[in-house]
Amino acid sequence: MKAEILSIGTELLMGELTDTNGSWIATQLPPLGIQLQWVSIIGDDLDKLTEAFTRGLDRSDVIFTTGGLGPTQDDLTREAVAAALGETPTVQQEVVDNLERYFAGRGIAMPAHNIKQAHLIPSAQFVRNRNGTAPGWWAERDGKIIVCMPGPPGEMQPIWHEEIAPRLRELVDEEVTITRNIKTLGMSEAAIDEEISEFFGHENPYLGIYSKADGIHLRVIARAGDEETAREMIVPVEAAITERLGPYIWGYDSETPEEAAGQALSERGLTLATMESASGGFLANSITDVPGSTGYFKGGVVATTKELLAASGVPSATLRQYSLASAATALAMANAVRETMGADYGIAITGVIGPEPVDDQPVGQVYVAIAGMKQVRQLEFRTPPRRIVIKRRVANTALTELRKLIVEEHEG
Ligand code: AMP
Ligand code: MG
Repeated sequence: MKAEILSIGTELLMGELTDTNGSWIATQLPPLGIQLQWVSIIGDDLDKLTEAFTRGLDRSDVIFTTGGLGPTQDDLTREAVAAALGETPTVQQEVVDNLERYFAGRGIAMPAHNIKQAHLIPSAQFVRNRNGTAPGWWAERDGKIIVCMPGPPGEMQPIWHEEIAPRLRELVDEEVTITRNIKTLGMSEAAIDEEISEFFGHENPYLGIYSKADGIHLRVIARAGDEETAREMIVPVEAAITERLGPYIWGYDSETPEEAAGQALSERGLTLATMESASGGFLANSITDVPGSTGYFKGGVVATTKELLAASGVPSATLRQYSLASAATALAMANAVRETMGADYGIAITGVIGPEPVDDQPVGQVYVAIAGMKQVRQLEFRTPPRRIVIKRRVANTALTELRKLIVEEHEG
């Protein structure tokens, strides 16, 4: 089954909004055995949209769209599907009733223009949307399918999982592709290559190696007639990789360093505190991106001067003797924050964020210290000198090292 995606909205074309829906849907298709061939961004323009649907019906078996299902005049997806199929939308009373109930539940009358969302063409069915007012459309004609979903990812993704993917699974009878992503940090690409060389160079399962901001990722891709068989083909490769790269693996699939570290803490009932200078709170922000992080994250200090570091418990003697950007200061910061916040682990980050070098140290030079329950872990390295890259790299590294230290300290 050949597919294409239309991401709809003028704000996407203006560069004001990034098309994350398109790439998200793209990740969902290989396990379903659907081949994505095109992704287009189209503005809120009836002629251009109609043209896109007409072209899509010609070259694809299924068209997925997001956006343009809102109540306002510039939301034209429904109108364009109707035009491309040559059908006339009519109001569906039960959907009007639903919408009126939805608004009544919020204590307001339904705005008149929401009636747009209750229109349907003969070839389409509504797709339920639990999280918003705009129902989706599933249209089928002459063996072709058009699936229209609302733009907000928080509405689109549940609709996909609950309504769309199950229907597609019924329809598609082709080879599926399953991907397992294994994430490592601390080993070079060459060393990994040497360790697991016999798995490279095969077509199915295929093993790929990619360098990312949070380390080196190994991607095992298997194709088979059904999902279970494909998953089974991955098992022995994954087992061998886990056995040989064990301590360097910090996560799988879409897992982030903050999720992996958070899980290591919460599983064992441990707590964490942070003190940052160069990274400006990026580490604390990442940690608190994870739902439930308040259960293990006691808090974080962001301090960019020695005075503030001293006020946060870093010994004055250390601060007098060493540069703010130094291994000794990082260690003192980690110990101080662990102590003052009464946490099991303390992470400190310092370094040179730029734009100017500090004490003859280049931009991107960073120091991480982790004060653990039995030992301390210290790292110093240089990242590319771009601000956001420095912050991201140093925070990712600190979190993956924390996870590793926790596992080591609690083994056996
Ligand atoms: P719309 O349904 O076109 O009115 O879009 C509603 C909202 O959904 C937009 O304001 C965005 O916040 C979000 N949205 C729409 N399309 C996309 C997309 N392709 N990727 C990510 N977010 C989107
Ligand atoms: Mg829009």
